[in-house]
Amino acid sequence: MQEALKTFKSILRKNNDHVTHARQRVFATLYGKGPQSMSELHKMLGCEINRTSIYRVVELFEQRGIVRRIQIGWKYKVELSEVFVAHHHHISCLSCGRVFAIKEDERIELLIAEIARKNHISHPVHQLEIQGYCRQCAGKLS
Ligand SMILES: [Zn+2]
Ligand SMILES: [Zn+2]
Repeated sequence: MQEALKTFKSILRKNNDHVTHARQRVFATLYGKGPQSMSELHKMLGCEINRTSIYRVVELFEQRGIVRRIQIGWKYKVELSEVFVAHHHHISCLSCGRVFAIKEDERIELLIAEIARKNHISHPVHQLEIQGYCRQCAGKLS
């Protein structure tokens, strides 16, 4: 956490953004956790920081590459970016909104690297999200 916090602060300072209490609290709340929805964030921080401020902080974090957005249907969750968390992918449920991290699969990474190479793309980055219905929700569908 200490290292991450240092990195976090240096990103803000590099961009002349102040390290405010609200920004530190949102960062600390996302740290070490999986993707969180805005209402989950609000539930955890609601008594300290109002909803509008949380939205504003998350928006700034997104612009600065501190968090990334995971789209689930028309909703989204946010989690800390790959600056702070090892590269990984998600599977999300379109019904209940649960998000599962996918265990690392070398084959996906190699394939994507190969596709980038073939298309003459250097320093490729990628996001891959799989969406569908989890076992519980699929059960309710039928
Ligand atoms: Zn589900
Ligand atoms: Zn990947």
